[in-house]
Amino acid sequence: MKNLVAGIDVDGIQTTFALVDEFGKIYAKGSFPTSDHKEFKNYVARIKEEIMALSGMLDIPHDISAIGIGAPNSNYYTGDIENAANLIWKGRLPLAQQLSAMFGNKPVVVTNDANAAAIGEMIYGGAKGMKHFAVVTLGTGLGSGIVVGGNVLYGHDGFAGELGHIKIVKENGRPCGCGRKGCLECYASSKGLRRTAVELLEGKNESTRLKNIPIEELTSKDIAFAAKAGDPVAKKAFEITGEYLGEALANLIALISPEAIFLSGGVANAKELILTPTKRAMEKNVMPLWKGKVKLTLSSLEYENAPILGAAALAIKEIQKKNTTVARRKIF
Ligand SMILES: [Zn+2]
Repeated sequence: MKNLVAGIDVDGIQTTFALVDEFGKIYAKGSFPTSDHKEFKNYVARIKEEIMALSGMLDIPHDISAIGIGAPNSNYYTGDIENAANLIWKGRLPLAQQLSAMFGNKPVVVTNDANAAAIGEMIYGGAKGMKHFAVVTLGTGLGSGIVVGGNVLYGHDGFAGELGHIKIVKENGRPCGCGRKGCLECYASSKGLRRTAVELLEGKNESTRLKNIPIEELTSKDIAFAAKAGDPVAKKAFEITGEYLGEALANLIALISPEAIFLSGGVANAKELILTPTKRAMEKNVMPLWKGKVKLTLSSLEYENAPILGAAALAIKEIQKKNTTVARRKIF
């Protein structure tokens, strides 16, 4: 009997799920539009249905031992999603509890996608064997999963590790979704990169292929594409993004002294374009004590599957934790 876990990634648009083993091998995968269901309880029932259907299609004997979910604004301690701006259901949503009840009380754990990405890196990726590291996800926003002593830092209330909302610009900072101004994610994320490129386009008459794209249609992918082809304005936008990010990472190093920091998500998919300026700024700003010591690298998880692998790893980590607790009980 093969032991598998289900990994589920919830975002405002798609819900993606997969059956995965302890080595990160994906046995089956599927997705459906998150907003298909106006009622939250129907959404949870759909997740169960889809996972059962996926399981029914597998021709090897297997057991689903736990379920891990990466979801916005979700709280590892309570298992709830709390006031997620990007989801259609409002308030507190008891996702883990409802899904666990539907699966005969199997362990169901939730956390945000950046924490899931950190656990994914630890179980399947480049952070194997590391006890102190961080994963920074550069998507529409900026998320961070911080691992200290082998465990994700959840903090007092379950929401620790909001590197995206440290304030990095004091005067005339860009307005942030959190209601404040000048947060890191307004600068280092796909939205931030886009905004920086738009500002550069407004200020200069330099020849750039970005001028051929109507501003409202310009995406971070267009900027990456242009930068790869050597476009000076697009390259400059990545440079500026990397400067903000690198400076913030130098501060993060002073707080947690990590062995490594991994970049993942859409903007990180531009690879050296973002890695090089970020590294430069990080080394320039870090305390002498840590210069040249902290590895900054790209996530080694395959970009497309990283969110579901992170969620699956969350379930595996939970089983490992339970086994350790049981073993400890036997000793004492
Ligand atoms: Zn903010």
